[in-house]
Amino acid sequence: MCGVCFSRRGLLTGLGALSLAACTENAATGRSQLVLVDDGQLSAMADQAWREIAAKVPPVRDPAVQARLARIGAPLVKAAGREDLPWSFTVLDSPEFNAFVLPNGRVGFFRGLFEFAGSDDEIGSVLGHEIGHIVARHPAERVSHELAAQAGVAIAQMLVSDSAGEWTDEIGAALGMGAVFGVILPYSRKHELEADRVGVELMRKAGLDARAAVTFWERMAGRSQAQPPEVLSTHPADDRRLAALKAAVEGA
Ligand SMILES: [Zn+2]
Repeated sequence: MCGVCFSRRGLLTGLGALSLAACTENAATGRSQLVLVDDGQLSAMADQAWREIAAKVPPVRDPAVQARLARIGAPLVKAAGREDLPWSFTVLDSPEFNAFVLPNGRVGFFRGLFEFAGSDDEIGSVLGHEIGHIVARHPAERVSHELAAQAGVAIAQMLVSDSAGEWTDEIGAALGMGAVFGVILPYSRKHELEADRVGVELMRKAGLDARAAVTFWERMAGRSQAQPPEVLSTHPADDRRLAALKAAVEGA
């Protein structure tokens, strides 16, 4: 059941049957989602977002660092069955403790977090989580919810009826956040927990040690207790999240 179709029924009345038709079942998470944008539209937004990011934060120059991230990412992509996307893995030269994925498969991993993660398994746990967001179609769902909530029915109808890419600028403007929508806005708790769960599955399939996800996020939680909270942290490591992650890892 796709909650938004009913909880926001008043808002979506104009879409009628279309909004219901836009709720699709996701095999990775076992729940249905409101999806009003297609992969082509998301990809165009993501390309633009990546250009904006690349203009601000350069990649780390050491090719060995970049090769290591790509090597850890490759089996996870294979495990995800999403080799259709043009994946790329880039360590960005900034001390931030963060990582993100764009819906075109571009993964940005900030140097601060990369250096904090000691082992390949720990780096893989972050990548599994990020790839998990894509497998679970979280970017499409988040943009669709924002559209339904903020832009209203008219733009949503245009999106549903129009061809890929044509309304990209309108989506960005309607969301009022430019193209970097996939980076700055934190995901909901539900999305974070789902990405953790899918990430653990991907780690197992890729032959990584899924227990590293728990040790990594425990270390992250310890760090955030010692430091002021990061305003833009997209991956808050709290007790509830850690408990769910442990359950997923131990449920092997
Ligand atoms: Zn996340």
